[in-house]
Amino acid sequence: TISPTPILDDAAVRVAVRARPLLERELSENCQECVMYSADRSEVTVGKERRFTFDHVFGPHVGQEEVYMACVKPLVESCIAGYNATVLAYGQTGSGKTHTMGSANSNFLQEHELGILPRVIRQLYKSIEEENRAEFLVKCSFVEIHNEEIKDLVHPETPSKSIFIREDANGDLVLAGVREEVVTSFEDMMKFLEIGSTYRTTGSTLMNQHSSRSHAIFTIIVEQRSIEESSDIDVITAKFHLVDLAGSERAKRTGAVGVRFKESITINSGLLALGNVISALGDERKRGQHVPYRQSKLTRLLQDSLGGNSRTCMIACISLADINQEETLNTLKYANRAR
Ligand code: ADP
Ligand code: MG
Repeated sequence: TISPTPILDDAAVRVAVRARPLLERELSENCQECVMYSADRSEVTVGKERRFTFDHVFGPHVGQEEVYMACVKPLVESCIAGYNATVLAYGQTGSGKTHTMGSANSNFLQEHELGILPRVIRQLYKSIEEENRAEFLVKCSFVEIHNEEIKDLVHPETPSKSIFIREDANGDLVLAGVREEVVTSFEDMMKFLEIGSTYRTTGSTLMNQHSSRSHAIFTIIVEQRSIEESSDIDVITAKFHLVDLAGSERAKRTGAVGVRFKESITINSGLLALGNVISALGDERKRGQHVPYRQSKLTRLLQDSLGGNSRTCMIACISLADINQEETLNTLKYANRAR
């Protein structure tokens, strides 16, 4: 595998904030909005004085397509050009991560409701069809990290113990033990998403807790081989990770005992490690600082697709409701470290 020429981008990680509208329940409970955004979509203010600046700030009326066009479409294009990319949805449970990422079954959604994943898949196959200088092979996998264990959501019979992350001879990270499926059409990849997401939401009796404490990682691997005679490039491989992160809320200490307590601490450490990696990436240029990828499975798995030559976008999802003000502030502080 040969890498394409490096691209220079001034920002290692781009950060967007997306606020979801108040839900019926919040309206009926008379919740008030506690977040304001500037007209130029760059600033967000929580309460009276906490103001933050981000690459994009999307208010509650910004739809799925606009979020996709601004944050993700350029990453699909660079993936076709051979660069790794990662999109992360961060935020407290109920803030809109799964809605934004489109990482649940999307079969019954209307066009305007489609999240990022179906749009990426559609764009990918469209670009491949239009490209006549190369042949493409597309593979994907869908895994979940829960309690530092990796589960293959599409082949749930695979024991977590037989899945591990290793580096191959080219320095690329490989998920050994996870079956990567070759997928040849939009419909087939949507089916793959449906199977994995269905497993994710029915696999556990305490399922809401389970899915809010785990990271779901949908990975698309795009291999291309030039069919032009003059070309000396062999195969270019690019990876696109789409990550629906665990809920960022602090674990409630009351009642959290034994296994559950261990669980909540472990999940927090994944997000903690990600925060450390992303903030080190921002500092890297200045100080040549060490980037602590090995602190968690999540960051290890994403290592070759965060920083370096890859493009990353984090979408911090927030609620507008005043009852969530503290968590919203925590989310914005976390996202702010990434800048
Ligand atoms: P999370 O995955 O962060 O726990 P969800 O994506 O499940 O949150 O969203 C919680 C609820 O809010 C869902 O009912 C979802 O449909 C709704 N929702 C989230 N974001 C939006 C949005 N931008 N517009 C309309 N409804 C939204
Ligand atoms: Mg969710």
